[in-house]
Amino acid sequence: MHDPTYKFLFGAFAFVLGAAVGSFLNVCIYRWPVDLSINRPRRSFCPSCKQPIPWHQNLPLVSWIWLQGRCANCGAKISFRYFAVELVTAVLFLAIWEVFPWQVAIAYWIFVSFLIIGTFIDFEHFIIPDRVTIGGVIAGVVCSVAVPALMGTDSRLAAGLRALLAAALGYVILMIVLEAGKIAFGRKRIRFDRPTPFTWTKRDDDADFAVGNEESMWSDYFAREKDRLLLQCDEVTIDHHAYGNVTLDFRYDRVTAEGHVIMLDDVTHISGVARELVIPREAMGRGDLKFLAAIGAFLGWRAVLFSLFAGSFLGSIVGLITLVVGKRVWSAKLPFGPYLAFGAVTWLFFGEFFLHWYGTLLSP
Ligand SMILES: [Zn+2]
Repeated sequence: MHDPTYKFLFGAFAFVLGAAVGSFLNVCIYRWPVDLSINRPRRSFCPSCKQPIPWHQNLPLVSWIWLQGRCANCGAKISFRYFAVELVTAVLFLAIWEVFPWQVAIAYWIFVSFLIIGTFIDFEHFIIPDRVTIGGVIAGVVCSVAVPALMGTDSRLAAGLRALLAAALGYVILMIVLEAGKIAFGRKRIRFDRPTPFTWTKRDDDADFAVGNEESMWSDYFAREKDRLLLQCDEVTIDHHAYGNVTLDFRYDRVTAEGHVIMLDDVTHISGVARELVIPREAMGRGDLKFLAAIGAFLGWRAVLFSLFAGSFLGSIVGLITLVVGKRVWSAKLPFGPYLAFGAVTWLFFGEFFLHWYGTLLSP
């Protein structure tokens, strides 16, 4: 192993393996939220023309560059995400291989695979499926029993218990934050400086909802059945019916105006001028609780606390920047999973360093 040639070969193997696993994770990211089976159809297909992709056009990293991010059959753009996921997985696999003993490295390979799937699904859909979160908890406990060094012990029993307790801690601590957040920001009231035009336009099963410069999907605002969105309007037109001064009371699938309930299925276009908007708001989804539990099952209780703090810290910075840049004045839903994943990966590589630094702070 001290031979530089072997070291290079093993490193190259870890990188290529990571790229190949990343290619598989892309399939999970694409299919799990829409609930297609991973194995049926067996081969990958183009998301646009549904044409199966032959293996020689489906090489991780290489094919995307070679085909310049386009489908060889229909020329549709293939999202940069596919390349990014393969590259991130490859780099993380290599870095983990270089830093950790091989048993630990294999467990961490499994761990970052879950993190990557959760992160990219959360970015796109604002949810983290149970397969990722609960699957991650189970995988974490199993890995800890198999490789007790993950939990800093050599007893399998102790490692399994520690993994379970850390998972429970992750779930409970984030639930407390979530409940506290609901009290603080259960709803968000936005009063506009001046009357602001808005439009609601049906698009497929969803709708585009634009208020001033802020555009989003209708479904972004609604997490639960009973969520309500209130829009106080100076004037509004629902399809061809005009109303004067009215408050529109929206649920996901219907709107109440002056006591009339209108199903949004029957509406194609709503536009008007609004003075005030009240949006339902959930700072975090339930998926985040289970996601942090999975982080605990793999990395232990310290990592739970660290990931939560690092994730919130990065989240506030990003929130502040987008606020300053003015790209998003307010947002209905914030994916929190990616920030937790960032905190977890930081801990994975630099946790020892932080612990040491923290130790010297306490006892100089
Ligand atoms: Zn195609």
